[in-house]
Amino acid sequence: MKDTMKACNLHRIGDLRYEDVSAPKIGPDEVLLQVKAAGICGSDIPRVFEKGTYHFPTIPGHEFAGLIVDAHPEDKELVGKKAAVFPLLPCGRCEACQIGEYPQCHDYDYYGSRRDGGFAEYLAVKKWNLVPVPDGVPYEHAAMCEPCAVSIHALSQAGIVLGDTVAIFGAGTIGLLAAQIAQGWGAGQVALIDVDDTKLAFARKLGFTHTVDSKTVDAAEYIRGITGGRGADVVLEAAGVSATLAGCLNAAKTFGKVVLMGNPAKNMEIPQKAYWEILRKQLSLRGTWNSSYNDARNDWRLAIQCMDNGVLKLEELITHRFSLADCGKAFDLARQRKEFSVKIMFVTK
Ligand SMILES: [Zn+2]
Ligand SMILES: [Zn+2]
Repeated sequence: MKDTMKACNLHRIGDLRYEDVSAPKIGPDEVLLQVKAAGICGSDIPRVFEKGTYHFPTIPGHEFAGLIVDAHPEDKELVGKKAAVFPLLPCGRCEACQIGEYPQCHDYDYYGSRRDGGFAEYLAVKKWNLVPVPDGVPYEHAAMCEPCAVSIHALSQAGIVLGDTVAIFGAGTIGLLAAQIAQGWGAGQVALIDVDDTKLAFARKLGFTHTVDSKTVDAAEYIRGITGGRGADVVLEAAGVSATLAGCLNAAKTFGKVVLMGNPAKNMEIPQKAYWEILRKQLSLRGTWNSSYNDARNDWRLAIQCMDNGVLKLEELITHRFSLADCGKAFDLARQRKEFSVKIMFVTK
C-alpha cells in the first residue's frame, strides 16, 4: 500500500480537484475498501457547486462499492470480499438509534459529506457499514445500492398489493428504480409521469408502456383511463414540486396511498381543490426518508438481492462512465444537463 492515493477532493465550493492525498489507514473496526465504482448522486451537484461539504477539504461520494483489500488480523476473512457501503454512521445513543432506525439519528456522520467518501481510490470503512455483494452483482450495480434502497424504502411505506396500479410522478433515476421495484412487488400496472419527454422516451425504452407527459396530458385522467375510472392504488411523489403533489392527489383512488419522497426545491403548496381530494377520498399521505438498515428490516440487503435476482435491471441506467481523473468533465455533464444522463459513474479498473 502506497502512502498516497488519487482522489477528487473538494477544497471549496466549486473547487473539486483530482489530486494526490494521503492514503487512509484503517482504524478500529474498519477495513480498507478499494473503490471500484462510485456514482454521482443528484445531491452531489448542490454539494459540490452550491452548498459545499461540512468542512474542507472533503472527498465527496456516498454511492460506491468496492473490494476489501485490507483488514485487521481478526477480520482477515473479509479481505477479497465485495461490498457496498451504507454511508451513514449513527451516534448509537439517540432515540432513533435505540430502535435501529438510523436515518432518523440526531447526530450522525456520513461518508461523502461530513467525512471523506468514495470518489477516491481507497476508503477506510467501518465493518458495520459493509453490505455484502455476491459475485454475480457487478461493482457498478452495487454502487447504486443507495438509490435502490431509498426506492425500496419509499414503496414499502405504501404496502403494494398484487395487481395494484402504481403511479410514479418523476421519471428520474429514483423514479425508474421505483418503477422496477413496484413491478417486482407485483404491481399490475406502473405509470411514469414527467414533464421531460426525453426521460419518458428513455422509460419506454426500458419497457414501461404507461408514460405520461403531464405538460400535454392530464395525468389523473390518464390514470383513471387505465383503471376503469378508479385512480391509482399507490402514488409516489418523486419530484418535490407543488404541481406534482397536486397531480398525485388527483391521480390517487379513493382510500389510495400517496408516498411523499421528492426533495422540495421550495415551498410545497396544495391548491384548495387538490386538498379536497385528501379529505373526500380519505387519502393516506406518508413521508419517506432514506432507508432502513437494521436486522429486522434492511433495504440495503434487499436492494442487493433485487440486483442478484433480476428485479432491478441497472445496466441500462448507467449512461456514462468516467475515471476519477475526469471528475471535472463528469460533474459538468451532471450539472449542465446538455446531454441526457441517468446515472453517471466513476469506475476504476
Ligand atoms: Zn445518493
Ligand atoms: Zn443516533
